[in-house]
Amino acid sequence: MADGRLRCYACGHCCPLPEGAIGVCKVRFNEGGRLRVPWGYVGAVQCDPIEKKPFFHAHPGALAYSFGMLGCDLHCAYCQNWVTSQALRDPAAVAPPHRTSPERMVADALRLGAKVLVSTYNEPLITSEWAVAVFKEAKAAGLTTGFVSNGNGTPQVLEYLRPWVDLYKVDLKSFDDRHYRQLGGRLDPIVDTIRRLHAMGIWVEIVTLLIPGFNDSREELTRLTSFLASVSPSIPWHVTAFHGDYKMTDPQDTSAEMLLGAAEIGRNAGLQHVYAGNLPGQVGNLEDTRCAACGETVISRFGYHIRAYRLTNTGCCQACGAAVPGRWGRQFDGQITARPFAPRRLSLELTLLN
Ligand code: SF4
Repeated sequence: MADGRLRCYACGHCCPLPEGAIGVCKVRFNEGGRLRVPWGYVGAVQCDPIEKKPFFHAHPGALAYSFGMLGCDLHCAYCQNWVTSQALRDPAAVAPPHRTSPERMVADALRLGAKVLVSTYNEPLITSEWAVAVFKEAKAAGLTTGFVSNGNGTPQVLEYLRPWVDLYKVDLKSFDDRHYRQLGGRLDPIVDTIRRLHAMGIWVEIVTLLIPGFNDSREELTRLTSFLASVSPSIPWHVTAFHGDYKMTDPQDTSAEMLLGAAEIGRNAGLQHVYAGNLPGQVGNLEDTRCAACGETVISRFGYHIRAYRLTNTGCCQACGAAVPGRWGRQFDGQITARPFAPRRLSLELTLLN
């Protein structure tokens, strides 16, 4: 900047950083006039079913090799990944970083049979350079890549990610700017990110954790889902059940009835693929994917488990031939994960950072 500060564009805060300053994320900093970013480690790594991310319209049944660094640009009181996301803010969050390399991670993902590499657990936008380094290796090996993110992006970081990210899950936490400010962010950059991701042709799915008394009013959910439908009615929306976590333990847990009510609002807003998550077997057919043209169930699920798969090898409904939006393989390879999912031991020979 004209006054010598550096502007970081990795997330929607767009921090102006004077010499020696650390960003809101507590991750990126100005050292000697250079923007410094984390590199060469993971705070967590795990193989998960892709349905857990959740992506329901991308390679069903695939194993997603998931990795994360530390830190986040928001500070949600109910964070379910707080051990990694809040590690730099909260002394109670302890996740020792382990040194590794993109080559080692991709080799490990291939050995375990993963089809997808996903940057998750912390906010991946603030560690985008590392994710891109890993994704370059992953793409060279024929793997699909994804972000699981709060969506607090900027046009600059999205252009940077565009060639390397295939799938993008945005956690749309509310549709009220006051609520976002409680979490340490703003609504506008998230809305803008969702629009841009869709326009870029990156496959987008949206999750809203339904928290009683926080974001579950009919009025707010109507605005949220109407916005999504205005971007595209075919964007999948997952409305998922809250349970007390981290510093938010007061609200009651979300019931199946609450999820069903929210899902109805989403469908009435015009969304074609609405899912209710975190309460397997309690939400009727809201775990299944149905053809928007004829209503046929094309993928039947119980939680993360695929019970039936009825798409053609071009991703069309077997009953009526209509295309079902998503990123489908030429064939369903079965579910790689066990039922219930049991993580296999990771071989990654991680070195604990000092
Ligand atoms: S990633 Fe976001 S919070 Fe961190 S320095 Fe950059 S703009 Fe600021």
